[in-house]
Amino acid sequence: MNSKTVPFTKEQIQHIIADYPTPFHIYDEQAMIDNVRQFLRAFSWAPSFKEYFAVKATPNPYIMKLLKAEGVGADCSSMAELMLCEKVGITGRDIVFSSNDTPYAEYQKALAMGALINLDDISMIAYLEQHASLPDRICARYNPGPLLQEGNAIIGKPEEAKYGMTREQIFEAFRILQAKGVRHFGLHTMVVSNELAVQGLIHTAKMMFELAADVQKHMGITVEFIDFGGGIGLPYRPEESFVSYDELSQGIRQHFETIMKPHGLGQVQLAFECGRAITGPYGYLVTTAIHHKHIWKEYIGVDACMANLMRPGMYGAYHHISVMGKEHLPKDHIYDISGSLCENCDKFAVDRALPEIEDGDILVIHDTGAHGHSMGFNYNGKLRSAELLLQKDGKVRQIRRAETLEDLFATLDFSAL
Ligand SMILES: *Cc1c(COP(=O)(O)O)cnc(C)c1O
Repeated sequence: MNSKTVPFTKEQIQHIIADYPTPFHIYDEQAMIDNVRQFLRAFSWAPSFKEYFAVKATPNPYIMKLLKAEGVGADCSSMAELMLCEKVGITGRDIVFSSNDTPYAEYQKALAMGALINLDDISMIAYLEQHASLPDRICARYNPGPLLQEGNAIIGKPEEAKYGMTREQIFEAFRILQAKGVRHFGLHTMVVSNELAVQGLIHTAKMMFELAADVQKHMGITVEFIDFGGGIGLPYRPEESFVSYDELSQGIRQHFETIMKPHGLGQVQLAFECGRAITGPYGYLVTTAIHHKHIWKEYIGVDACMANLMRPGMYGAYHHISVMGKEHLPKDHIYDISGSLCENCDKFAVDRALPEIEDGDILVIHDTGAHGHSMGFNYNGKLRSAELLLQKDGKVRQIRRAETLEDLFATLDFSAL
């Protein structure tokens, strides 16, 4: 269970809306910081443990800066994400570049910034060499395929996932890299996404420890870095519960003691690349009910749409909705909450039990702090919303303005029509 509360009252949000019209995403700074501190504390036993925030989840430099101050690095997979790091002052070993299908210019940028390159494929060794030189420190991404009998809906079965190398390729890649003078090796994987089952997450760590031990045993290579990727899930539904960081950490620690230490791997740096778990629960999409429609079903039209939050339309994902000021009223109405795209999947909720909604009511869609604004798009000429930070001191700061039609049309030259 988790209580889907919001960090502001109806009066407070009305004041905010007076300055920043809906829709917008608003992020709770204090809650975000408390969460990341708790996460890092849970892993304080692990030698130089590092969290690399997956920038794609919330690519806002103000958020990245807040996290940087807590000692968090960045996981990037594109030029834009690397450039955001540069703007924020995140460089060198505080960046892991976990890209795939990577254009060379992006590797070049990552290398110039001193980032740890995480190779998605064995063919990338030759590709890197052909265009420049190999760094002396490199990481390889593992795809266990059918060797792992799990997987979930977003990433799917590992053997169906495009990421990473097979077990044989990891060994082959390390052999080639070693022959070419690479001296420092890391291993990476990401086989789960939005996983709430702590055992599944612990199992990923165990799998990686066993791989590192095998690499040590068969090749004499002492891996120095193991990155478990992201994938810690969120309790999007109120009846679900947060992953316990302590339980996760202690489960991983047990395998570290029994698998890693006996192989002399007790100093290996452990890392995560979580995005969702770091910021997800601390963001809210605030929108206003603007229309009622009664046909075969009951619809509430809001001023946000799927362009502001894609997950419900794309994955059928559940996002909890609060109607401000009506939190304690009976949920005796069944609504579809829809946006204005000419796509029938543009619904934030289908058949949702909510209190009676009137035009003008403020709806808060929960858990939009990761993979929310960042997945936005401009279909139907919809504009991406502003992002606001609810600061520790209670004040609100706009950390990204809303797009305008001028932004949307900036790539068109109307004068040449
Ligand atoms: C998306 C992604 C992450 C972050 O995933 P979350 O579900 O947000 O934790 C981390 N690493 C890689 C390589 C990714 O693609």
